[in-house]
Amino acid sequence: MSEFQIQQIAVLRDNYVYLLRDEATGACAAVDPSVAEPVLAALDRLGWTLTHILNTHHHHDHTGGNLELKQATGCTVVGNARDAARIPGIDVRVADGEVIALGTAQARVLDVSGHTIGHIAYWFEDAGALFCGDTLFSLGCGRLFEGTPSQMWASLSRLRELPPEVRVYCGHEYTESNARFALQIDPDNPSLRRRAEEVKRLRAKGLPTVPSVLGEERAANPFLRADDALLQQAAGLAGDDPVAAFAEIRRRKDAF
Ligand SMILES: [Zn+2]
Repeated sequence: MSEFQIQQIAVLRDNYVYLLRDEATGACAAVDPSVAEPVLAALDRLGWTLTHILNTHHHHDHTGGNLELKQATGCTVVGNARDAARIPGIDVRVADGEVIALGTAQARVLDVSGHTIGHIAYWFEDAGALFCGDTLFSLGCGRLFEGTPSQMWASLSRLRELPPEVRVYCGHEYTESNARFALQIDPDNPSLRRRAEEVKRLRAKGLPTVPSVLGEERAANPFLRADDALLQQAAGLAGDDPVAAFAEIRRRKDAF
């Protein structure tokens, strides 16, 4: 495998834009460019040329920079075919299970609807990197703006089956607040307590908590553990079916 480079750019209040580059060919993608200016500045600094935009979903804080970047660089905009009407400047319409190429690097498209309908993730298997937008956060998950708890649970269950060493590049730095909520639900989980301490240390230094590691999320993130007997016990949801337990944890988070 040739070198696959990832640059993380913090924008707006708590969004992350990622720049991915396949060194062999120079192909370079911006994942969910909320705004154009900081992305253009980063490209300039790195000496990279943007060839693609990969959008996970239509929300403005993930697509707001699409048109300006496309105009400035002539890049190709990739998004979900099912959501094409809501992705500004879309050129390439992809569907669940398709593989797209970024130079010699390849990403599998996974439909992970729930936060929105038509939300997708890009899984670069060889690079061990998952770009999952607002579906899975570190110690949390996206709000259900358009989908149902059952759709979101199916999407998260799908993501949690990826290899445990996969690094999770999500759309927002929400981890500190997610950790406070998760500890309230599942206070005695040692993996969660360890991660919460690490998050506190990182944020105190102004450092990102993203990416996280999927195997650690599986052990610590309550939204990935709605079917786990220990989590259900801790949350007072023993015996609930997974969707009902997930829906209840999500409801509590919405009110947190
Ligand atoms: Zn969103």
